Order: sequence, then structure tokens, then C-alpha cells
Amino acid sequence: MATEATAPKRKVRRRGYVVIREDECKGCGLCVAACPQEVLELQSKLNRYGYHPCRYKGAGCIACGICFYSCPEPGAITVFELEEGEEPPQS
Ligand code: SF4
Ligand code: SF4
Repeated sequence: MATEATAPKRKVRRRGYVVIREDECKGCGLCVAACPQEVLELQSKLNRYGYHPCRYKGAGCIACGICFYSCPEPGAITVFELEEGEEPPQS
């Protein structure tokens, strides 16, 4: 039996960004290793507790949330998903 044809759905690629509270980060690197986009890195500078905090490289996040779920420190990472056409805030 024939089925009614429908227009193909356009795939919209998710985009996002993350905000990292440097003083909550213990520099464990779990998020860096887990990010499929490789857009996180540890910094050479130290935070106030003597850890090398993680940093978002500034582009490429797809808001998958894996870094959030891999981080053992509550409140260190917040993931934001961008609407279509929306741009991340300038840091
Ligand atoms: S939300 Fe996903 S893509 Fe974005 S920084 Fe975290 S792990 Fe990487
Ligand atoms: S997983 Fe959390 S504590 Fe570890 S480096 Fe990333 S933000 Fe810091």
C-alpha cells in the first residue's frame, strides 16, 4: 500500500556553549576527555584553590551535555543550548 509522501525534514544541528565556574573546577580533566567535539581544555593558570581549571575554547559545542554529566563537581559546568540563529554571549 502506498504511503503519502511528505517533505523531508531538515536536520537542524544543535549548537550551544558552556559556562565553567573556574573556582568550582578541580581540574580533573574528565570533561575534556569526554567532550566529543574536543572543545574543552585545561588552562595553565591556577584557580584560587590551586587547580588548573577547564576552559571552553569558544566554538564548536553541540550542547550534548556529556561534560555536565561527566563532571563530579556540582555547579562547575553549565550547558546552554542556542536557538536557531542565536549567538552565544561574548565573554
Ligand atoms: S555540551 Fe557536549 S560538545 Fe559542548 S562542551 Fe560539553 S561535551 Fe563538549
Ligand atoms: S570535569 Fe568538572 S572538575 Fe573536572 S575539569 Fe571538567 S569542569 Fe573541572
